[in-house]
Amino acid sequence: MYLIMLGAQGTGKGTVAGLLSKSTGWPQISTGDIFRANISEKTELGNKANEYISKGQLVPDEITVPMVIDRLAQDDCKNGAILDGFPRTVEQAKKLDEILSQKGKKVDMVINLTTPRDEIIERILNRRVCSNPQCKATYNLTMHPSKVEGICDNCGAKLVQREDDSDENAIKQRLAIYDEKTSPLIDFYTNKGVLITEEVSERINRLGKDVAEDVLKRIK
Ligand code: ADP
Ligand code: ZN
Repeated sequence: MYLIMLGAQGTGKGTVAGLLSKSTGWPQISTGDIFRANISEKTELGNKANEYISKGQLVPDEITVPMVIDRLAQDDCKNGAILDGFPRTVEQAKKLDEILSQKGKKVDMVINLTTPRDEIIERILNRRVCSNPQCKATYNLTMHPSKVEGICDNCGAKLVQREDDSDENAIKQRLAIYDEKTSPLIDFYTNKGVLITEEVSERINRLGKDVAEDVLKRIK
């Protein structure tokens, strides 16, 4: 199956996608992670993408769409994939429909994660990620701290804060882009009958792992 994680920054898309990937064997495809890996390796794609990412803007489709096409063409995606961070615009969603229909596939389920805005900002400011590109585990200083401060539980590498996560104004700008460009996808996929909405919030004690369990029940 081809699943899409939808939802604003900091709602836990990466966490849910990672858990679903582990249980299903379908790869997690995070466009943000692919960009960051390319940026740290200083590839041509990374250098181009960084011009936009460092300003908090979306990377243009000319760069993003071919990258996703390449990734979906790899052998490990032939039975399914969990897309995390793509599509982010209605144009990208239409492109994805084309790409999948050429393979005789379609988007089977879209998981729309919602979290109150004030909680989102706090979560992003407290987010720490593993600096090892092979691991990329995500932690939260208050909700989900590592066992040893600053060190990844999985692999022992240093935990770091993403550059774009450290500044509240930059976070608000990314959320504004989400509202403008990405949130129309909620209607787009509702109309196709494939969207489910899942609330993730500390206040109702419902976290990514609860959502992943629910989704796994639905796709069994
Ligand atoms: P966030 O969701 O917190 O913005 P991501 O890791 O998903 O973080 O993405 C980091 C950055 O990479 C985004 O701010 C954006 O600039 C770029 N990016 C990721 N996915 C896409 C996409 N589908 N289209 C355009 N730009 C993207
Ligand atoms: Zn790690």
